[in-house]
This record gives sequence, structure tokens and C-alpha cells, in this order.
Amino acid sequence: MNPQISNLHGHRFSPSTGVLITGASRGIGAALARAFAAAGATVGINYHKGAAEAQAVLESILEEGGQAVLLPADVAQAQGHDSLLDAFEAATGCAVHVLINNAAIECRQPLLEVSESSLDLTLNINLRGPFLLAQAVAKRMIAGKIHGRIINVSSTHAERAKPHSITYSISKAGLNMMTKGMALELGAHGITANTLVPGAIRTDLNREVLSDLEYERGVVAKIPLGRIAETGELIEATLFLAGEGGAYVTGSSLTVDGGLAL
Ligand code: NAP
Repeated sequence: MNPQISNLHGHRFSPSTGVLITGASRGIGAALARAFAAAGATVGINYHKGAAEAQAVLESILEEGGQAVLLPADVAQAQGHDSLLDAFEAATGCAVHVLINNAAIECRQPLLEVSESSLDLTLNINLRGPFLLAQAVAKRMIAGKIHGRIINVSSTHAERAKPHSITYSISKAGLNMMTKGMALELGAHGITANTLVPGAIRTDLNREVLSDLEYERGVVAKIPLGRIAETGELIEATLFLAGEGGAYVTGSSLTVDGGLAL
């Protein structure tokens, strides 16, 4: 058992547990940042363009007595990853014990209209960046003898194609295999790697498409539990993967989708 990741009943982490969450200015990442801080961890709130939103997440955490820092960086820019990790360590005094590769974009385009630049952008943010960031974090975990956790936020669309979202689906399918490969090679170092697989969660990612009520009805019709979820419904599953209860779970995917993938 790694004493640096202590998860008592009700998911408690020690303040020396550093949790870096990419794309934590909004949506699922912001909800996870608040949850990990409330559970006692020290949280790195990464964001790219949403400085004001990230600042609001930080302030809400600090108001609740939590520990967090802002870490602006474009996850697609791998040359900035070491600076991002250095900044987290310098600002918090913590190493990263839990990396949550959450940041992603979805460019909705028909296959025949996908440009090379939008393919590159999606793969760079959703797959290449997370791969290289996880690799950089894993090197530090190994050097620090930290039995850390890597959690990659995937999607049911890694396995279910949907129209006009092929670049997103490809990136998430890659993320699933990346997770398995990381679990395989990092297990010897006591590091786990898993995917969290959300179904349809109400965030900015789908706000525009869900504003079409007919589209929303079509989505809901495919969900056995009959509703779209809120970001908070992913918290328990993520805390589990990061906490002591998830210590023997690796290379796995934890689906929280109301049955959408069935
Ligand atoms: P969202 O509301 O659109 O938020 C996306 C986050 O990613 C924002 O904080 C954004 O930060 C950040 N981001 C985007 N590009 C970035 C970059 N280059 N570098 C750093 N951060 C970047 O999305 P969400 O719905 O919360 O999605 C979170 C994760 O869940 C994604 O991996 C997504 O694929 C997955 N997911 C979501 C759903 C869903 O229904 N919502 C379903 C399945 C999977 P800035 O605003 O600061 O740029």
C-alpha cells in the first residue's frame, strides 16, 4: 500500500496527494477538481483558454478550505509538459500522484469534410498530448517511487461510431488502447492506468447539439436509465479509481453511462 495515497471511508486523501486534472476549467474536469479538493487532495487545475472559468473553480475550492493551484497550459504542446509538472510541484510542494487526462475537444464534421488541421488538432489534444503527459508523469512517479494512478477520460464513442464525430471517436479509441499499454508496462512500478468512460453528460461539449430538443430526445431514447447525466455523477467512480479501493484495478475501463453503451 502506498502511504501517500490514503483513502479512508468517504474518500479522504492526504494533502500531500497531488492530483493533476487537465481541462479542469469547465465541465467534468471542474467537477472532479472540486471533488478531489473536497476529499483532501491538492489539486492542479489545468486549463487552456478559460482563465476566468479556471479562476472561478480555484476560488470555489479555496472558499471551501481546499488546496488547489492554477496551471495554464495547452496539453497538446508536449514541450510544455515538464514545465507544467515543475510548476505544479513548485506551487504545491507535492508530486503528481494522480493524473487525470480529461481535456478534450470534439470537432463535429462529416467524414468527407474533415480537414488535416482538425484531424491533427483533435488527435494532438485528445491522444498525443495525454500520451506524452502520462509518459512524463510516469517517469516522475517511478523516480519518486510513487504508486500513482493514471486515469484517462474516454467515451462510449471509442467503441460506438456516431455520425460527424470520427476524429473524436478515433482519438478515444486510441486512448483506450493507450491505457491498456500503460497498465501493462507500468504495473511493475505499482502504477495503475484506467479509463473512465462517461456516457452523455451535460457540459459545454454537447450544449449546442443538446439544445436541439429532437436530438436530445434521440440521445435519451438510447439510454436505458432514460436521462442525460450531470457532471457530479462521475465523481464517485473517479475517486474510486484514484483511491485505495482502486489499488488492484488496472487496464480497466469504468463506464458511467446509464447503459448507453449496451
Ligand atoms: P468541456 O465542458 O468541453 O470541457 C473541456 C475542457 O478541456 C475545458 O476545461 C477546456 O479548457 C479543456 N481543454 C480543451 N482543449 C485543451 C487544451 N488544448 N489544453 C488544455 N485544456 C484543454 O468537456 P467535458 O464534457 O467536461 O469533457 C471532459 C472529458 O469527458 C473529455 O475527455 C470528453 O471527451 C469526455 N466525455 C464527455 C462526455 C460528455 O457527454 N460531456 C461524454 C463522454 C466523454 P479551456 O476552456 O480552458 O480551453
